[in-house]
This record gives sequence, structure tokens and C-alpha cells, in this order.
Amino acid sequence: MLNVKNLTFSYNKTPVLKELSFKAKPGENVAVIGESGSGKSTLLNLIFGEYDLNIGQIFWKDKAILGPKYNLVVGYDFMKYVTQEFDLMPFITVEENIGKYLSNFFPEEKRERTSELLEVVELTELAKTKVKLLSGGQKQRVALARALANQPEIILLDEPFSHIDNFQKQSLRRNVFKYLKDKNITCIVATHDKEDVLGFADRMIVLYNQKIAVNDSPENLFNDPKTPLIASFFGEYNVLDDQIIYSHQLKIVEHSNLKATVVDNYFKGHYYLIEALAGDDIVFFENKSALKINQEVYLQKQL
Ligand code: ADP
Ligand code: MG
Repeated sequence: MLNVKNLTFSYNKTPVLKELSFKAKPGENVAVIGESGSGKSTLLNLIFGEYDLNIGQIFWKDKAILGPKYNLVVGYDFMKYVTQEFDLMPFITVEENIGKYLSNFFPEEKRERTSELLEVVELTELAKTKVKLLSGGQKQRVALARALANQPEIILLDEPFSHIDNFQKQSLRRNVFKYLKDKNITCIVATHDKEDVLGFADRMIVLYNQKIAVNDSPENLFNDPKTPLIASFFGEYNVLDDQIIYSHQLKIVEHSNLKATVVDNYFKGHYYLIEALAGDDIVFFENKSALKINQEVYLQKQL
């Protein structure tokens, strides 16, 4: 398993991560979330052995992950890292990129493996296309497939679907995360997109103020978001009487202690998000239909 022990790291004088500890079991999917600049990419770089730690240790099973000071070549065979840069070979084809690190001694196996991965990332039709001709999203998918080619024990993904359009994101996520589960590959995924987490992650690590604010299952964090930061990851929310209430939990009732005046409506597909003014506070709630501006409503938390 991955064992991060009391990790502390600064770039020169800028402290980024402080006293981080967590574990990830084989096959586990751990999502690292946090605002931009909270240190998600830095954490992945450290797990990969890109930098030397100031304090702490990182182990994969019995093996200590060492930084460049102690390890001439960065990286280990059992670990792959898909960064936001991709780093592909532009002048060779998609399938050649994916098979780049697969042995030529077993051509049949190499062919099968490549075609399996082309299907996972939905690029079978572009197998013979040169990578330089691809869009950003297509390149990102090639990078994912190439990282999976040699069957790592652990994979680090930095915002892995950020360049992929919404038409393909859903099925691609399912394919990739299912593949990782099937092969029992540990996955550490940095993301700010809740869709990358819900339904896939076994646990969520929230980085805040250089530390791990929480490390728990998505279900537990959704059901009991301890802070607005956590709630904001799941959707619109209100803080009423020090209680965090999601917009979908507030409903219009006949009468209640919470009277509000409608300010605006936002179409969201199967519901409208309604913005209303309760005293000096803005509140958000969901409703099946749009409401008249200035209409007065009574709201209550639904249990
Ligand atoms: P995230 O991925 O969560 O957006 P990063 O890990 O990229 O956050 O960055 C964390 C902090 O470290 C930020 O304040 C960023 O400006 C700083 N930082 C990132 N990379 C470097 C670097 N190579 N040198 C100096 N500071 C850096
Ligand atoms: Mg980042």
C-alpha cells in the first residue's frame, strides 16, 4: 500500500504541505481535492519522487520513494503519473505512443494490450493517426492509455479529464476507473471536479491550509459536510443558524420561520436554482419551476 507519513514540503521559502499523513490500499481510488494552489499537483509530484521531501517519508509497500537527491532517475516501474502536460511523441501514431514502452518480444501481446487500451480511452478509430493532429482532449486520452500500458501498481492522475469535452467525459471516466478497479491498480487522482469523485472514489482527501482537512468517504462527507469548503464541492449550499444546508434540501412550505423574497431563477435542467433574499442573507433553493421575481416564499429544511 501507499503510505505517506508526516510529509512536509516547501518550494524554497513557500510552504505548501505540512504534516500530511494518509494511506491508500491496493486497488483503492483516493481523490485529492482542494482549491487551485492548495498543493494537489505538488503532492502528486512528491509521491512520484519528483522532489525531495523536507520532512517525512513515502512508501509503496516496503519501498521508500526517494527524491532526486537520492535517486538518479526519477520514477519507478510500478508507478505511472499522468501530468497535465501529457508529454507524448507527436510524430508517431496513437497506437505507437500507447505501445511505446511495451516489449517488442511479444508482438501479439503488445497488439492485444494496445487494442484493449484504445477501447478503454475510446480512441480505436484514431489508432493510426499521428498524435500531433489530435485535439487536447484526445492527447489526454492517449496519455492515460500509455500510462496504463505497462500495468502499473499505482497510478497518479492530475486532473485527468480536464481537456475532455462533456460528450465523452462520462463514459471515459467510467471506463478508466472501472479498468483501474478491475486490475486492482491504486489510483490517486487530483481534481476539482466532483464528477471525477462521486461514484468512483473510495475516499476523498481535502487539502486546505497546507493540511489534510478531512479524509473520509464521499458519502460521509456529502451527508455531513463539516465545513463550507467541503459542502461547496458537492453543490450550492446555505449556512443557516450555523448549519450547512444544501440548496436541494430547502423546500417551499405553507409557513415557516424562514421567509424569503425571490431575486432570480437559474435553469438547471430538471430543476431551477432559485436565489432569494431572507433578511440580509442570500439563500439558494431548488424548485421544479421558475418563480416570479419578488414573490415571497416560506422555506424549510426537508429531512
Ligand atoms: P494545485 O495543483 O492544487 O493547484 P500546486 O501544487 O500546483 O496546487 O501549487 C501549490 C502552491 O505551490 C501554489 O502556491 C503554487 O504557486 C506553488 N508552486 C507550484 N509549483 C511551484 C514551483 N515549481 N516552484 C515554486 N512554487 C510552486
Ligand atoms: Mg494542479
